[in-house]
Amino acid sequence: MDHLDTRTLQQLDAAHHLHPFNDNAALAKRGTRILTRGEGCYVWDAEGNQLLDAFAGLWCVNIGYGRKELGEAASKQMTQLAYYNSFFQCTTEPTIQLAAKLAELTPGDLNHAFFTNSGSEANDTILRLVRHFWAVQDQPQKNIFIGRHDGYHGTTMAGASLGGMKGMHKQGGLPIPDIHHIDPPFWFIDGGELSEDEYGLLAARRLEDKILELGPERVAAFIGEPIMGAIGVYIPPRTYWPEIERICRKYDVLLVADEVICGFGRTGEWFGSQYFGFQPDVMTIAKGITSGYIPLGAAMFNDRVAGVLKEQGGELAHGCTYSGHPVCAAVALENIRILQDERIIETCKAQTAPYLAQRWAELGEHRLVGQARIAGMVGALELVPDKRKRAFFPERGSVGGVCRDNALKQGLILRATWDAMLLSPPLIITRAQIDELFEKAWKALEATAADLGI
Ligand SMILES: *Cc1c(COP(=O)(O)O)cnc(C)c1O
Repeated sequence: MDHLDTRTLQQLDAAHHLHPFNDNAALAKRGTRILTRGEGCYVWDAEGNQLLDAFAGLWCVNIGYGRKELGEAASKQMTQLAYYNSFFQCTTEPTIQLAAKLAELTPGDLNHAFFTNSGSEANDTILRLVRHFWAVQDQPQKNIFIGRHDGYHGTTMAGASLGGMKGMHKQGGLPIPDIHHIDPPFWFIDGGELSEDEYGLLAARRLEDKILELGPERVAAFIGEPIMGAIGVYIPPRTYWPEIERICRKYDVLLVADEVICGFGRTGEWFGSQYFGFQPDVMTIAKGITSGYIPLGAAMFNDRVAGVLKEQGGELAHGCTYSGHPVCAAVALENIRILQDERIIETCKAQTAPYLAQRWAELGEHRLVGQARIAGMVGALELVPDKRKRAFFPERGSVGGVCRDNALKQGLILRATWDAMLLSPPLIITRAQIDELFEKAWKALEATAADLGI
């Protein structure tokens, strides 16, 4: 590939590349930012700007950029055996080793992996296989999934339907049938006078109401992200998940944790369900499984579900050409080896996450910030017009983008959803880099307040 200059690349991009989750007409006018290099917690763009990536790409670069070992693992596997499928009563060694490794790492008896290329496909997989699980036990009517409004479970027909993003449902005629949603647990706006713990129970009992409304004999599963990421890092009260678990057990509804963001150390535990203390029956993973170096997703099933699928399921009429791709599996194994050998998650939990929480709370004192929420290495600053009130800007979403652009001018990448500034740095971020993040974020908040004339 011969290199082209930035302007030419931007013109070609505008002419030939449809960007996901973008207004493409607006983007073509503005010109795409082209990233060229990454090292540790930093990326560089084609203009030569060095940026502190406090969003880890898209919640995924957990071990940081530039780890040669992952490239070497891929290169070695590509040279030895670039591809073979797992369809024809075959598979490859890295695929098997990764399945066994995931069985060991994931909590409880989540001992069985089904591989996909992405988190969205993992959620498609669980929709089909969980319905199949009930159907082969003579309960084909037990096929309803309950998700949450504003949840995010990916972009395929099933993923977007299980999610509760209204803007996504509007495009393409979603949700598909037999998927229902309850309100998300977001105390900041919804909690009224209740304590967070009281509110967590109330929010969880919406699931019980929904199950009773639909009939427990119709409800196959409940799916949720332990922490709702894309909508703005909604961290539920500690009481929420144990109550959800109790309700699922009571009505024999399978509990599915979408750990695509929370998995592989994001909360300071290996999985978000461990952070909140509940045991899923089914779990979907992606992103941090390879630290984003190569695409890979998986659905993990417990012994009960996998047992039925194996013993009574017959031929599973489901799979991707690249299910269990040996190169992706080899990269995932190397990523997991680094996470373990370098004790990256333990260091987060014991040292960097507490320090990050302290500095994040200091940002929470800024006059624009109504709430600074954080769990491990994932958090958000909720920007508000009046710090004394738990209420959004009248024109919701008008300020977050301004603050994001101000952060970029400081050399800091934060994501904005509505008016929440989202944080999800590489897990290897150091105390010095956390201080840098703080300084830059504070300056971005100051610049935003000045832009608003506050
Ligand atoms: C990113 C994400 C997905 C979708 O994963 P893709 O790899 O983008 O398909 C699903 N669930 C959650 C919680 C996510 O954040």
